[in-house]
Amino acid sequence: MSEVRTRFAPSPSGFLHIGGARTALFNYLYAKACGGSFVLRVEDTDQERSTKESEDIILDSLDWLGIKADEGVREGGPHGPYRQSDRLDRYSGYTESLIEKGIAYPCFCTSEELEQKQSRSKMLGVPHVYDGKCRNLSSEEVQAKKDAGEPYAIRFKVDPSEVVVDDVVQGRVKFDARLIGDFIIVKSDGFPSYNYAVVIDDHEMKISHVIRGVGHLSNTPRQILIHNALDFELPVYAHISEIVGTDRKKLSKRRGATSVLLFRDLGYLSEALVNYMALLGWYPEDAVEFLPDGGLATKFDIDRCSKSPAMFDFFENDKSEAEFDPLSMERSELNKWINGKSKLNWLNQKYIRHYELPQLYDFARPFLETDSEVTRLIKEDEDLLIKALGSIREYMTTLDEAGPYILEIFRKSVEPESDEAAAVLTAEGASEVVEAFRKELESGNPEHPDDYSALMKSAGKKAGAKGRGLFMPIRVATTGKMHGLELPILFSLLGKETLLQRMQSVMASVK
Ligand code: GLU
Repeated sequence: MSEVRTRFAPSPSGFLHIGGARTALFNYLYAKACGGSFVLRVEDTDQERSTKESEDIILDSLDWLGIKADEGVREGGPHGPYRQSDRLDRYSGYTESLIEKGIAYPCFCTSEELEQKQSRSKMLGVPHVYDGKCRNLSSEEVQAKKDAGEPYAIRFKVDPSEVVVDDVVQGRVKFDARLIGDFIIVKSDGFPSYNYAVVIDDHEMKISHVIRGVGHLSNTPRQILIHNALDFELPVYAHISEIVGTDRKKLSKRRGATSVLLFRDLGYLSEALVNYMALLGWYPEDAVEFLPDGGLATKFDIDRCSKSPAMFDFFENDKSEAEFDPLSMERSELNKWINGKSKLNWLNQKYIRHYELPQLYDFARPFLETDSEVTRLIKEDEDLLIKALGSIREYMTTLDEAGPYILEIFRKSVEPESDEAAAVLTAEGASEVVEAFRKELESGNPEHPDDYSALMKSAGKKAGAKGRGLFMPIRVATTGKMHGLELPILFSLLGKETLLQRMQSVMASVK
């Protein structure tokens, strides 16, 4: 087989969202798995909706995800330019040849006229198909209209036939060309339509496999007709499944249109997100889902993509859509929408534990540096801070949790965070527990988490307390808080002396 060449062809009119990123990823992974090339093409022929800003966001998002193009707008390459607005001169030659062969013709219908016809079809409940008004204009009529300066588009002639799409994922799908009708390939502003440019660019860029969302399946017969008319070889088509929410409904605009960079800002590792997105519609043969260190690219295959909808389980669905605006919400508010049991959380935890500590520290650093106190600690004793990160990573789901945990470890002065916490210490039996633990500490020589567990146990025995009655007074007496890291781990990081000091100041504050 000739070289596998795939492409991602975003229209720069918004963020890179999960659906788009997954399409990019599948193309990238398939090219890598086959030793082929992955091309990035920007499809900006819709002048009103395309912006350079959006192009930059999309390319930056792909960079963050580590989805690197072999050829593209930033990389260049032998089949460029890779931005459609820079390729306008490429399309006209093909258009002329189609007109010459009688397969395409100028259409002078105005948009008002077409809209009227469209709404009539809608009223009648029939699919709208162009009625062919300009199909049979004589060359004199065409010339006269052109001379009069009437704007025109170019339409592609579609004769009644059956168009078959042989799709790797969707199987064999048949379309009735009568329901397509003659469609526009060059708009009256001179820009090619999406369906037209895509075919010429895929051909010129030698694309062998078109992998994209199933939403584009209905465009494919048009594209096949153009391929055939221009004698181009057809690429292999793979239309990948729709992505749905946990309610199994199509992802709403807001939920689905969330920029992938939001995940970066929430403390997800790009590799975890990539791993998660790969599983949206692709099923590894051995069902092993955690695939770090390039495992994804060696295993990925479009043959193992399913056509059933893939479930994006990151957001909860049981809340009213109107209030949901992930890009402008406060983190605490957004948390209420995040499904703590999502596969992405599971994967992120796995990746946080998987990296070598210095690498994890590099990833966590931007989050740590948002807190001036932690920044000071970094300057003071970076090695100790990295060691602390190594202990707390077991408890982290997202990178932004590192800062608060670290502060918890290094905090000097401690007092009860609330009346509720203070009440734990004044409850019956609590001061006996704290005192028993203090004594155990003083006489012991604990180092490892297990040593601290043993001390707590024997303190419990002596004070006649267990369970919450034992842990809560000790927790509040040493941290001032009702929740936090597992105590033995925290204690091994704090050390005996700091613990004793903390207990003294906390107990003094409730007396
Ligand atoms: N520019 C199209 C889009 O963003 C891509 C179409 C395709 O992959 O063929 O939806």
